[in-house]
Order: sequence, then C-alpha cells, then structure tokens
Amino acid sequence: MPEGQVSHRNARDLRATLVGERLTLVEVVHPMLEPKRLRERLEGDLVTGAQARGKHHLLRTEPGRTLVSHLKMSGQWRVQPVTRPARRAGLFLRLVGERHQALLYRCPTVRLLEPWEPLPPAIARLGPDLLADGVAGGPAAASALRRVDPDRAVGEVLLDQRVLAGIGNAYKNETCFLAGVSPWRPVESLTEAECHALGEIAADLMSAGVEHGGPIGTYVPPGIGAGARVGTKWVHGRANRPCRRCGEPIRSRGQGDDNRTAYWCPTCQPDGASGAGGRPA
Ligand SMILES: [Zn+2]
Repeated sequence: MPEGQVSHRNARDLRATLVGERLTLVEVVHPMLEPKRLRERLEGDLVTGAQARGKHHLLRTEPGRTLVSHLKMSGQWRVQPVTRPARRAGLFLRLVGERHQALLYRCPTVRLLEPWEPLPPAIARLGPDLLADGVAGGPAAASALRRVDPDRAVGEVLLDQRVLAGIGNAYKNETCFLAGVSPWRPVESLTEAECHALGEIAADLMSAGVEHGGPIGTYVPPGIGAGARVGTKWVHGRANRPCRRCGEPIRSRGQGDDNRTAYWCPTCQPDGASGAGGRPA
C-alpha cells in the first residue's frame, strides 16, 4: 500500500519532469473519471507545481486549478517521456505534456478543483507532514502527540492523519519497534524523548523510502546495525517469527477502529513504561 513517502517521491518526479510543460492532451481512460470533465477543464493548462500532503497528491496548474488524487491501496503515478508508449492495463488517466506524460493507474479518487474551490476537508485537516520542507520530525511529533486524547494507543494515533500526515501501517510498526515503544501504550505514558524519537525515526524511514523507491520493504533503514539491508523489516508482516534483536516471537493483533494490524516484539517493546527499548546502535 502506498505510504506518505510514495506520495513525496511521486511529487518530486512530477516536479522534475512535468512542471513547466503545457498539457497538450488529457486522456480520460477509465469511465469512472468521465463525469469529472477533466479533459475539458485541464487541457491547455500549464503545470506549475506538484506537492504531496500526507498521502494526497496535488498537481497545480495555471490558471490556478489543482488536481487532487489519493492512491488508496493500489493506485500509482508514473512519469515517462511522451515518446514511450503508455502501459494501458489499469490506466485511469493520462496527462500529456510537451516532453513528458504523467500516467495514473488504478486510482478512482481524483478531484479537480477550480481556483476558487478550497482544498477538501480531509486535506485541510491533515496534521504536520513529516517530510514537508521545514518540518523537523522530532519536535513536530512531540507537539502533535501532546494534543491528542491521552488515553489513545500510540499505534492508532500514529496512523491518524489528522495528527501526523503520511505515516502508513508498515512505517508505524517499524517506527514503534525502533523507538522501543509498544503500539498499545497510551499516548500519555510516552516520555518527551520517546515522542521525539517516534517522529525522528518515522521521518528517517520515510525519507529513506523517498530516496530508495518502492513501497515499504525496499528502503535501507538508516543508522541501523548489522543485519539491516534493503527490504529488511523488523516486525511488520513478521507475526510469530523471531525478533531480529532478541529472538522473541513477534506478535500481531488488529488495532483501532480500522483494525489495522499492529506487529510488535513484547520484549523490545514492553507494554509498561519504557526501559527495554532504544534504537539499535
Ligand atoms: Zn525483540
């Protein structure tokens, strides 16, 4: 599933290629997008910017329109030269510029905002994005975590896009492990240092994901000791397998209203106050 780092990588690729180009052709391939009249409204616009806000993509054009997309579980943006034929399977939308084309696959969640339309509430309400320019992960997480209901569980709060934008389930699980924090602990039990560590680690993992590409599992965890390699995951998806640090079987259980699976090591991430955790050197 695409997480925030995928959105940021997409935005970076779109900025590097399509920004400054005029859309000479907008091809609406999937019937689900037809009622949105994207071709009539977008064709001829000049692409002026691309941005990620959490898992939302914003493509901005002159005269002030914004194409908002959310990739959900299986969507994908690709950018390639106009000379290379687009893969048609799963293609929903094709934006053709002068030299590059942007291809949107398997994504029905698209909205085109006219200049006078505000961003949808889901975006306007997003918490700080750990990968946004000028956001420091540690302080941003600490101040965001201080504002939530203190009884809520850490694992659930890290997925709440209104608290922090862009963290998906896999990064939540890996972040909690690396911070030595059980996803089941109430937020009020976190020390200031733990709040900072959660934000810093999540930001590190996500920015490594932007650099190395691919969804979770193909990043190189930074600053992590022997045994870490591309694709290494510490706990996510490893239920009942031995912890890479202590050998204890990894546990898993659905958490929160959305029942997203939490994976954790009961030894490295104790349920009580911290003590056994800490980032591996
Ligand atoms: Zn362990």
